[in-house]
Amino acid sequence: MNKCVFCFYALAMLLLFTSVTPLGLSQTPYDLLLQGGHVIDPKNNISGVRDVAILSGRIAAVAEHLDASTAVKTVDVSGLYVTPGLVDIHVHVYASTGERNSYAGDNSVFPDGFTFRVGVTTVADAGCAGWRNFEEFKEHIIDRAHTRVFAFLNIVGAGMRGPKYENNLADMEVAPTAEMCLRHRDVIVGIKTAHYAGPEWTPVERAVEVGTKVGIPIMVDFGANRPERPTSILWTEKMRPGDIYTHCFSGIRNELDDSGRLNPAMWAGRKRGVIFDVGHGGGSFAWPVATEAIKEGFYPDSISTDLHIGSMNAGMKDMLNVMDKFLALGLSLDDVILRSTWNPAREIQHQELGNLTVGAPADVAVLRLENGDFGFTDMYGARLRGTKKLICELTVRNGKVVYDLNGITRPDWNTLPKGYRQTGDSRWDAVTPRPATPPPK
Ligand SMILES: [Zn+2]
Repeated sequence: MNKCVFCFYALAMLLLFTSVTPLGLSQTPYDLLLQGGHVIDPKNNISGVRDVAILSGRIAAVAEHLDASTAVKTVDVSGLYVTPGLVDIHVHVYASTGERNSYAGDNSVFPDGFTFRVGVTTVADAGCAGWRNFEEFKEHIIDRAHTRVFAFLNIVGAGMRGPKYENNLADMEVAPTAEMCLRHRDVIVGIKTAHYAGPEWTPVERAVEVGTKVGIPIMVDFGANRPERPTSILWTEKMRPGDIYTHCFSGIRNELDDSGRLNPAMWAGRKRGVIFDVGHGGGSFAWPVATEAIKEGFYPDSISTDLHIGSMNAGMKDMLNVMDKFLALGLSLDDVILRSTWNPAREIQHQELGNLTVGAPADVAVLRLENGDFGFTDMYGARLRGTKKLICELTVRNGKVVYDLNGITRPDWNTLPKGYRQTGDSRWDAVTPRPATPPPK
């Protein structure tokens, strides 16, 4: 390319980029300004109309009014809810191995296809990999996903690959599991025990041993319901404060007692600090249990999906649909957002997430609350009708737009010059940013 033409083009682009802010490139206070939305930020006790400004991937300001002329990009989000990016601590995303009938394989999904479109910016894989295959999982999925992916490491060395592996007590080793946690402490947030069919407490005890050594919680899917190891003992004696009981409204492990009331041991566990997580999944959420729990005031600590190939098109569907179910059960939107952001972030010891504090990573969801006649189904295909439904309009991950349902960040095409190309700017847009260098002639 002719040098002069190149220089002219570069200068023109620079002027174009900087013209929106009189202060110039280096002094731009904000990359992205979300203006006029109803912010729900439970950590900071905010539920009201605020502007949210983002700079260099972090929350830069939250205030009743911020000057639009100081931002590279301003988006009108009035009438919408602006929340921290949703945190889903129970998903299965170890796709890619090709193993059939395995959560370290075909039962899992690739995270990015199921997250940003419903406002989720952080997930935690719930034990698909154990210490033997974790590094492969990390290399193939965690390190490549645009979604922030954490993991609960399975106490089973081989991971979540079916009964042959998951009932093998000999492969539930404390030392190598703890060692793997310490090697990847930045992404491993807990230990998972799941699906165990035997009468022993060994899987839970080994998981707790690793959790204590490393200083992380365990997440329990308690497997078969055995009289030798009742959930009442699990909640009141075996689990530590901060440990997470997932599938808490399944009803298949005595969550309700014979009278149909909530098992008093659930309350006793909560009093001790045990965490109760939804983990909806394909077979872990029943209306009789959820309605009774909510009626008695037993709200889940965290709302999570248990996303996998069996739940994604069944009653669970996606994170927002599970959140909608709790709106239908009578929780306020603020209650639901708390349990989908700040609570799960704290449960996995990532207090930098799930909030919009100045300086926090700029993961943001912009949601629309629709009113209408909707229906929500449980694990048995039974329906509960509701009048509210959350829709994700916009998702921001690390300060950049990664999903925009109705193009609210975009210019109308017929206002653009003829032959227009990418309309975004890499300071706020991860979808269609202009190339960093001019395209070759
Ligand atoms: Zn699961």
